[in-house]
Amino acid sequence: MIIILKPQATEQDANEILDKISSLGLKPLYMPGIERTVLGALGDERVLSQLHLDAYPMVDEIKPVLSPYKLVSRELQAHDSIVSIGGVKVGGGNFTVIAGPCSVESEAQLMSISKMIKSYGVPLLRGGAFKPRTSPYSFQGLGLEGLQLLKAARETFQLPVVSEIIDPNDADLMRDYVDCYQIGARNMQNFRLLEAVGKQTDKAVLLKRGMSATLEELLLAAEYIINAGNPNVILCERGIRTFETATRNTLDLNAVAYLKEKSHLPVFVDPSHGTGVKSLINPLSRAAVAVGADGIIVETHLNPKEALSDGHQALTGEDFATLMADIKPFVAAAGKSL
Ligand code: PEP
Ligand code: MN
Repeated sequence: MIIILKPQATEQDANEILDKISSLGLKPLYMPGIERTVLGALGDERVLSQLHLDAYPMVDEIKPVLSPYKLVSRELQAHDSIVSIGGVKVGGGNFTVIAGPCSVESEAQLMSISKMIKSYGVPLLRGGAFKPRTSPYSFQGLGLEGLQLLKAARETFQLPVVSEIIDPNDADLMRDYVDCYQIGARNMQNFRLLEAVGKQTDKAVLLKRGMSATLEELLLAAEYIINAGNPNVILCERGIRTFETATRNTLDLNAVAYLKEKSHLPVFVDPSHGTGVKSLINPLSRAAVAVGADGIIVETHLNPKEALSDGHQALTGEDFATLMADIKPFVAAAGKSL
């Protein structure tokens, strides 16, 4: 429920209502604006009716939040959220590229890729240290050693790091090494993991859509993180499973436009996993800009044939140079800056 106060309402008026909201076991929200203060009350619908807000003279308007998700909804916050990843601002008027290998494999691999992406002005490095693999026989990631290499790359190239968490117990360990926790498609509804990154950190979380998750399920997964205390969530469309087998997944660009309409959170696109086809990453990146995405996350490798995971979809340095040049006019047309 959203409670809009009259313009002359004081902070004391707001506090009185917030106390009442808390006393009923509901979650109070305080959103002071330039002209008016807006309050929120979240929780059980039956308890909400016990607030008797008509008894408060400074309440101007009461609006229900109709969607099942609340904190992520544009109904609650009309303006776009801007999320910082190690000081790099994501969302708003920015179009942000995150690039790097699927997995961190070695110092030489990570440093050479970091140097390459940095030379094209990419502000953020991705790389998996903990890999959720379909087969137990596939490369599972370097673990702590991978995190240490990511930290070294961050320091050498001034590139804040995005890396996947697969175990809630790793949240503390990873804090020192990453600037943004990625929650992968396979873990989008791992509710203990969502709560861990909600409670144990205020660093950014890149939440990828499950491969068969609806958009409502994605938004409710984001709601878990924010409800647990961390508002710095970025949504990511990474392709879904459909009847189509020509591509690894079907990149659902409807999702981007829909999520931008329904939520104030930044929305990213992952055209690497979304297509799984190297030649399609460039056109789908341009489409992502055009449909309103706030950024892309792309896999790169300087020697894809030797890659320990996802080499088939990794962009080489040359492909990456073309991609950066090709998205430029689209970013300008969208009125954003790279
Ligand atoms: C990845 O980013 O390397 C990855 C495993 O992505 P997803 O969870 O989208 O499959
Ligand atoms: Mn990958």
